[in-house]
Amino acid sequence: MNIPNDVATTSISWENDFSVFLPESAVFWFRRDLRLSDNAGLYQALKNNNDVIPLFIFDSNILEKLADKADARVTFILQSLELLKQTLELHGTSLSILYGDPVSLYQQIRVNAVYTNEDYEPYTRRRDDAISEIIKYHGGIFKTFKDQVIFGPEEVIKDDGHPYNIFTPYSKKWLATVNDFSSKPHPSENYFANFLASAPLPFPTLQDIGFKKTRVSFPPRVIKKSVIETYDKTRNFPGADGTTRIGVHLRFGTVSIRRLVHIAKQQNQTFLKELIWREFYQMILWHYPRVENASFKAAYDKIQWRNNLEEFDAWCNGETGYPIVDAGMRELNATGYMHNRVRMIVSSFLTKHLLIDWRWGEAYFAKKLLDYDLAANNGGWQWAAGTGCDAAPYFRVFNPALQTQKFDKSLEYIRRWVPEFDSQAYAKPLVEHAYARARALKAYGEGLS
Ligand code: FAD
Repeated sequence: MNIPNDVATTSISWENDFSVFLPESAVFWFRRDLRLSDNAGLYQALKNNNDVIPLFIFDSNILEKLADKADARVTFILQSLELLKQTLELHGTSLSILYGDPVSLYQQIRVNAVYTNEDYEPYTRRRDDAISEIIKYHGGIFKTFKDQVIFGPEEVIKDDGHPYNIFTPYSKKWLATVNDFSSKPHPSENYFANFLASAPLPFPTLQDIGFKKTRVSFPPRVIKKSVIETYDKTRNFPGADGTTRIGVHLRFGTVSIRRLVHIAKQQNQTFLKELIWREFYQMILWHYPRVENASFKAAYDKIQWRNNLEEFDAWCNGETGYPIVDAGMRELNATGYMHNRVRMIVSSFLTKHLLIDWRWGEAYFAKKLLDYDLAANNGGWQWAAGTGCDAAPYFRVFNPALQTQKFDKSLEYIRRWVPEFDSQAYAKPLVEHAYARARALKAYGEGLS
């Protein structure tokens, strides 16, 4: 098995215990759905089987790529698993946890059936295809269910059968398709008697899986009613408490998308629209997996980026001399969160003002964001760079000063993160706005000619 070196010597018995897997049982494999209620795949597993074994696998292929050993997402996952385990133990069962390459692990596990929820990213699709083959080869079944979205990537498409490339017509079709049934809960919580009875199983520490505790704290799983009610009016102002901060919970499935959509439909159409953006980008990644590494509009791959390392470092550290940009980057570095309006500003700044490849910025966000999601992050970055599936032309270059005037007029947000912004101590601007804008338009124009 694939255990990091520094862990191997201290590995404890929580790991690699296959004795709990009985050939006649079914497994429910948790992935980005770390909750027990209204969980579509778990509901199906429990409804159709008597001895369901709850399982989570720390996927070494993913964990080994995380350079920061204090990565906050790993702590979030472990805390969420602890909560799952405690609840499962109140119901006479427990949670099996394994570490390793899931494909290799499934070569060793012998069970009747594996139930899990669909995942739409390129890596997870390849992984699940391989696992499905292995399980079928041994005479078992591998069943996947739609859980993290209202509509899967093939469900909202054009009448001619092709995927949408532009958000507005996609969202119209989404809204025309959704009904009360779409957000109906899957009451997995009513079938807990069908878990396999088990004594409490060992549980790993962060050190056991090669990580350390983070100093970042996590937004609560609950959303204030007032935030949803006023979302359309407050969502663009980074200084206000005007968005839900539910992203990390949606990412790891500690809340149900059906519940959120049910609330959004009743209380705020603008909030609903943002949840549709989330499904739009998942749909794009599914139909065009090449966007993971390349521009959606292939012609944009010819742009000559400047890719200046010192300027990239200044951007990462919040030292560009543009207060709204620096505030965003400092917020990200300190909390693992950045307000959406500011994500748009800093990404436009990196790609247009500094002419740095959007993939650099995308990778930095991927390291830092608690709510990091390949589809949404890639979609957001390609939108900002003008390379994506978007009707807006590339010559939209955000002016940080105008954005500040519009969305942080009282400078509340800037003061919070860049208290020195109006003193001598503050960095000089890396580049002048009008000059940078003209340079960007020239580079884009030449790339596309
Ligand atoms: P709210 O405004 O309260 O929205 C609720 C939920 O709707 C969000 O949590 C998210 O799941 C979804 N949502 C909202 N806006 C969008 C959007 N434009 N695209 C997709 N989903 C959306 N979102 C991510 O979830 N993960 C990312 O890695 C990510 N990277 C981004 C990178 C860039 C460059 C940009 C411009 C945007 C990115 N977004 C990403 C979208 C958006 O910024 C965040 O979803 C939002 O800021 C999260 O804060 P919140 O939970 O308070 O959102």
